[in-house]
Amino acid sequence: MAANAIEIRGLTKTYDGQGKSPAKQALKGVDLDIPQGSVFGLLGPNGAGKSTLINILAGLVVKTAGQVTIWGFDQDRNPRQSRASIGVMPQELNLDPFFTPRGALEVQAGLYGVPRAQRRSDEILRLIGLEDKAEAYARTLSGGMRRRLLLGKALVHHPHILVLDEPTAGVDIELRQMLWENVRKLNREGMTIILTTHYLEEAEEMCDEIAIINLGEVVARDSTANLLGRLDFKTMIIQPDRPVASLPEGPGLTVTRREGGALEITYHSTDTPAEAVLAAVRDAGISIRDVKTEQADLQDVFLELTRSR
Ligand code: ADP
Ligand code: MG
Repeated sequence: MAANAIEIRGLTKTYDGQGKSPAKQALKGVDLDIPQGSVFGLLGPNGAGKSTLINILAGLVVKTAGQVTIWGFDQDRNPRQSRASIGVMPQELNLDPFFTPRGALEVQAGLYGVPRAQRRSDEILRLIGLEDKAEAYARTLSGGMRRRLLLGKALVHHPHILVLDEPTAGVDIELRQMLWENVRKLNREGMTIILTTHYLEEAEEMCDEIAIINLGEVVARDSTANLLGRLDFKTMIIQPDRPVASLPEGPGLTVTRREGGALEITYHSTDTPAEAVLAAVRDAGISIRDVKTEQADLQDVFLELTRSR
């Protein structure tokens, strides 16, 4: 058995231009290994290429170049086995409005060639909390129920790997918690989980390992603990009493001037206590009229990561 659930080499995707819109390179030679048994986060801003990557894994988008190995099966040479190894909960709600949840699960199982004796629609309906709605038309289900049904559909063929594309974008707290409980349970039972998100906190809470993708490239790949350590920088905005002659200096401090005379000091809060930043400001002879801190957001994180390479 392969040690990696997924191995991706040189993965490239260019969408053809349509009409006046130009061709778009959504993935630019991605290399990525995703270990078996992990909860793996693919983190990146909108348009980064997350869904493109996921949809290539799912067989929904045809790659332009590169190699994808799923559970040891090359996607081109063993399409059937690689497809059977992975279940994908897509970002888009694409349900047939005339199927009931049970019907949708049965049809999906049929598509994947799961013999009747091995189908477990009841078990899946229980897991996703839709037993009561098993016979209701999908068009009568709430948005949250439809999302849960998409999760159920991804599970009908007992895949080794479950992929969730932005599973909690726009869902309420209750559904979010239910999804995460399900995901943790499936992972404990041995399933490898891959999820995409543009929420840093979500990746932090759920994932053992994270890859950050931006503009079609992997810009960082590490354990969650290591990565968050690297990303743990803050910005302090100092409004001085009078114009500043010389900027404060100190190990781990990046100081820039903002418009209006304020100073922007960026530092890693794990290495540098706020007190040390303030001391450096005082040592530079600056008296502080006002001070505030800003947490780095994901956009800063990408800038930092792409700059430091
Ligand atoms: P993400 O899921 O990270 O938000 P996507 O993979 O959806 O990113 O999109 C990556 C880039 O590819 C974006 O610039 C997007 O506009 C473009 N793109 C996605 N799907 C298509 C498509 N079917 N045709 C043309 N361009 C696309
Ligand atoms: Mg997406």
